[in-house]
Amino acid sequence: MNDEQREDHTAAGQARLVGPGLDATQAFAVCGDALTNGKLGGAARLEQIMDAQGLLMAAAGPSHHVRFSDLLDRLDGEKAGSLQGLMPEWASPAGLDALRFLDKDGFTTEDAYDYRYEVLQVIRAAKKVGRLRGRVTLSDLRGEYKQETVYASLKGNFYHVHRGNLVRHPAVTVEELKKLRLPPPALDFYEDIPSHMSFQGYWFRCPACRWPMKITVEGRRARAQGSAYCLYPWHAETGASYIFTPVKGQIPVLDQAVELRTPDVRHRALYTGAVPSIPRALPVEGYKALVRDVWRYTTIPGLPEVRLYEVLTERLQGTDVQVQLWPDNDVFDLLVSRGEGEKRQTLFAVDFKDYRWSNHLVSKLRADGGDKGKAGWIVVPDHRESQIPQLTEECRRHGMKAATATDFLELVVRTVKEGRGR
Ligand SMILES: [Zn+2]
Repeated sequence: MNDEQREDHTAAGQARLVGPGLDATQAFAVCGDALTNGKLGGAARLEQIMDAQGLLMAAAGPSHHVRFSDLLDRLDGEKAGSLQGLMPEWASPAGLDALRFLDKDGFTTEDAYDYRYEVLQVIRAAKKVGRLRGRVTLSDLRGEYKQETVYASLKGNFYHVHRGNLVRHPAVTVEELKKLRLPPPALDFYEDIPSHMSFQGYWFRCPACRWPMKITVEGRRARAQGSAYCLYPWHAETGASYIFTPVKGQIPVLDQAVELRTPDVRHRALYTGAVPSIPRALPVEGYKALVRDVWRYTTIPGLPEVRLYEVLTERLQGTDVQVQLWPDNDVFDLLVSRGEGEKRQTLFAVDFKDYRWSNHLVSKLRADGGDKGKAGWIVVPDHRESQIPQLTEECRRHGMKAATATDFLELVVRTVKEGRGR
């Protein structure tokens, strides 16, 4: 084998390692960012669209041409926020055919938001171990609310209290915010209620996560119709979706827009979907809400984590087993152990993951060579059950296991109680 072949072989190995299609995935993420990143000025946006054009063409190969003007068309008008048709079919990342980066109001969709974030996690993991070659612009694009920054600002004796507060109180009055006594850098995570989440000076809480719902008004005058829904699709699907009639000078009143979904008996204990209630209008004045990054990547995954912790603690009462949430400087999300100090025996160490696309999580696990915190278990929210077969297969390579929250809860309780009987 000559050097050139060896080089090819390495490149193929790298491609396998970070997952096929990462080039195209990365190109789409850079492109989506160019369309949606509010922090980009005109010149920076153009420059980034040029980068995206280069990445898209590199991923599609020499026979395919992506025109710059076609990319510019995606900034507004009919094709705004859609990347459909830019790439030959075989080179398009899986599951992205219908992905839109902007909604009708020119607001970044939840899909696009998650897409960019998840790709970034994969790129970071691959970069850390030197398994990604070439130019990667995306990692520099992210705002200042990286997950590591959020957690670092909470570090200290009250870490788990502060993190719990970001989960339970994503929108608060100015007085309530003071009472939370968050460390000063974390206070910056709260901002005024954004304009796309308010109507005539009012906003509504999602009944599942308590963060402001997105508000859209379509049509004009007598035909105008307002809608309010949570940006986290699982909340909107389970009931956090409403309509209202916008009348000038009147406080908006909501009506349920979708049928409420109720969990079956088995999934009730850990259920984190919408609960039956019609939120009332709250004044924008005097309220603060978490920025979107912190809400999406701390509050949202935190809700099922906290619930799993609470139910597990309750069900293991009277045993010699303890449950800890975010222990040991955040090495794991959840630790189930027996004994104290040096005699402490780990029974289950868990990393909780809420990825929208399981292939991103698989690519990240692969680049990390398993979980970097050495957790034995990947646990996903119950509504991500369809990801389990793919995750189980990948986890097996790293000596790990994957389960939904309810399956995991039942397994732990069974194991501890049977073990005790021996
Ligand atoms: Zn919600």
